Amino acid sequence: MIWQEDDYLAISGLQHFSFCRRQWALITLEQQWSENLRTTEGALLHERAHEEGFSEKRRGVLTVRGLRVQSPTLGVSGSCDVVEWLRDPAGISLAGRDGLWRPYPVEYKRGEPKQTDADRLQLCCQAMCLEEMLCCSIPEGALFYDKPRRRERVALCDDLRDKVRTLLAEMHALQKRGYTPKVKTGAFCRACSLNSLCLPKLCKSPSAQAYLRAALQEEESP
Ligand code: SF4
Repeated sequence: MIWQEDDYLAISGLQHFSFCRRQWALITLEQQWSENLRTTEGALLHERAHEEGFSEKRRGVLTVRGLRVQSPTLGVSGSCDVVEWLRDPAGISLAGRDGLWRPYPVEYKRGEPKQTDADRLQLCCQAMCLEEMLCCSIPEGALFYDKPRRRERVALCDDLRDKVRTLLAEMHALQKRGYTPKVKTGAFCRACSLNSLCLPKLCKSPSAQAYLRAALQEEESP
């Protein structure tokens, strides 16, 4: 299937969607957004990764920052923080450069490596876009975390690619219906930047009246 650009999803939405489907829908379908410390730090980190939109050659590696990517078959678009180009006989030719080069996407992330696949899914989707745009294969990419400042290599295996396709299919279906999934609370809600907009406790209460009564009791208790 080939998607029309109007229906493209943001690649960055994959990490929201895998974190909480409702969070993704509130941001994407209802245009709600709330900054917290985590999102602000993350935005600053990405700003630094994107601040130079040019290529440079360092230790035999060509580096491109803020590269726009898209995939008509996946129906997504976005940008890669950094794409390194490594000399590789199985790579592709680049205008104005000798030899063959293989793209190696690197995504910058705030904080420590996560237990979940959220960051790996986003990176994998970027690589799948690059593969479609450049007719090449990208077996590996990397995530760069700022605490500690180090890279984590990510094998872009079939399982990860299947998960990207499955989640994107679900996201497209929800976008088409314009449907925001109901609350499914968990410990992860405490780290959610949309907690004050989503009001998970209110949605879990049998009624608004019961929510207000519980909130008042909390206020009154010593
Ligand atoms: S508060 Fe919880 S249920 Fe609501 S959007 Fe955030 S993570 Fe999802």
